Formats: sequence, structure tokens, C-alpha cells
Amino acid sequence: MEKKLEQLLNSAKLEIEGVQTTKELEDIRLKFLKKNGPLAEILGSLSQLPVELRPTVGKIANQVKIEILELLEVKKSELEKVNESKKLNDWDPTRPGRKLPLGHRHPLTQVLDHIYEIFKNFGFHRSDGPEIESDYYNFLALNFSIDHPARDAHDTFYVSDDLLMRTHTSPIQIRVMQSAQPPFKIIAPGRVYRHEAIDATHHHVFHQVEGFLVDEGVHFGHLKGILDVFVKEFFGQDVETRFRPSFFPFTEPSAEVDISCIFCGGNGCKICKNTGWVEMMGCGMIHPVVLKNCKIDTEKWSGFAFGMGVERIAMFKYRIDDIRMFYQNDLRFLHQF
Ligand SMILES: [Zn+2]
Repeated sequence: MEKKLEQLLNSAKLEIEGVQTTKELEDIRLKFLKKNGPLAEILGSLSQLPVELRPTVGKIANQVKIEILELLEVKKSELEKVNESKKLNDWDPTRPGRKLPLGHRHPLTQVLDHIYEIFKNFGFHRSDGPEIESDYYNFLALNFSIDHPARDAHDTFYVSDDLLMRTHTSPIQIRVMQSAQPPFKIIAPGRVYRHEAIDATHHHVFHQVEGFLVDEGVHFGHLKGILDVFVKEFFGQDVETRFRPSFFPFTEPSAEVDISCIFCGGNGCKICKNTGWVEMMGCGMIHPVVLKNCKIDTEKWSGFAFGMGVERIAMFKYRIDDIRMFYQNDLRFLHQF
């Protein structure tokens, strides 16, 4: 029995010495020390020995077990050291780094940046305003009197009696004009809120870009010119613009800007309802009442303003037919831009 134990220890020693990998080492550990392995077998057969021999043999068997465990431990740390230095030797500082997966800008941000870039080249500066507005900035100062019917078109989320989620970016006009002196050339992007049912073309949160210019001798021709150049810069030189009379409380005269349908080139399709034109934005000359509300001398200064929906423009640009795609954060969608 003692001889057997000695042989067992020797063969374990030999095998452990020859090991190259931690996997092999683990195999050896299992081979010698598993529940029905050779050592367990010897310990199990102690009962067949004469009583007086049992303690001695049991003691030796336990020592063999401890010794094998120690050998395994020593070999394990040796192997780990070897692996460490191997890694260092394999390390080549001239190899290119691994690229981490990076996100990119949301399609709406890309469109906003593009719009902003074009107007920056026209000399416009960027301005911002709060998303929670008072009735005064969102409506009253923009010539929506308390009982003005145009208020109905703005389905408003009220925060309190006087505070609301802004329904358009036009309040920024008032904030800028009340805080400085003309001339102004401002572009103001932002999120706006309307209490609307969500469908493929409507959402209760969307983005607008407001632009306005106030200077001496500004007239409607300037407005037409700048928006026509903008549309051509954004959509392409062959895209036409058309101005239709419209109504907004804060501009007079007011117009709706159409562009020749970019889907069919103006020939007529489902999207432009066979008219060859699609609606793009609202605009007009800033109403004298609005200028007066900002203490601007209307004898000297005049200006124009325009506002466009960023989602609408992005949908045209990328031919997206459902506004909800912008807010679902579906990576399969977002990775396309
Ligand atoms: Zn069309």
C-alpha cells in the first residue's frame, strides 16, 4: 500500500513537471484527485487493512494528497509567470489600436447642424431660449391676444396658468429683441411641444428652427432671396421655391414656402399629391406690433422671420415616411445616417 502511494506521488510529480498549459495542469489535478481517482481508491480501501496499519497508511495517503496539491500550486504560479512574460514579448507598440465602437450624431442633429451651417455662412448667429415659456413670450408678445383664434391652432401643454411648454421657437425672437439693439441676424433651433395625437406625420415633441433678421430697409425681397438660396444649398440647385400668401399673427404679410417636390422633381407623385410642390416652412415680415412690443423703432427698422420643422426637412432629405422613427432609438434605423 505504501509502495503504491509512493508510485502515485512519483508519477504525479513527473506529469506535473511536463505540463505546458494551465489546461493540462487542471487535467492532471482531476486525474489524481477526483472522487474515484487512484488516491481516493486507496483511502477507500483502508478498511481492508489490518487495524494497526490503518493510521500510518492513512497519514501517508493524506501527505501524498497535500504534496500533490502543493506541486500543482507551484506549477500553476510558474505557468502564470510564463504567460505574463509571453504577453509582454508579444506586445508590439507599433500595431494599430483596436477601434472602440463609437456612436454618431442623430439624423436630426445632422440636419440641424447643416441648416445652422448654411445660415452661419449668411452671417447669422445662434441663439437659444427656454422650453418652458410664459404665455407672454409664447403668445402675447407675438401678437396673439388672449382671445386670438390662432391660439387654437397651437394645442398647448400648460404647466400652470401662465407657464407652458413652448409651442414654437418664435418666443426666442422676443427674448433676443428685448435684450439688445438691432440689427439682428439670428438662427434659433429648439424643441417644441404640441398636444397632438402621434401618427406618421405628427408628434407631440418636435424641432423647429427659427430665423429672423432686423435691419434698416429690409423688405420681402430679402426674405425671398435668402430662403431661396437656403433651399438650393440644402436640397440642391435644381429645387425651386414658391411663396403662397398665408397668415401668422406675428408676421405681416405672411407666406407659406413650398419647394418643388424632391421626390418626383415636380412632375407629381403621391407625396406631393400630384401638385409637384411640398410645403416647407412659414415666413413673413415681422409684424410692427411685435417690433413695438420689443421697443424697436418701426420707422427705422424692419425685419423678416421664418420657421421650419426640422423633422419635416429631415424626412424630405432622407426620404423617411414616419416621424416616429426619429424617437424610437432603433439602431438599425440610426446606423443608416
Ligand atoms: Zn412629388
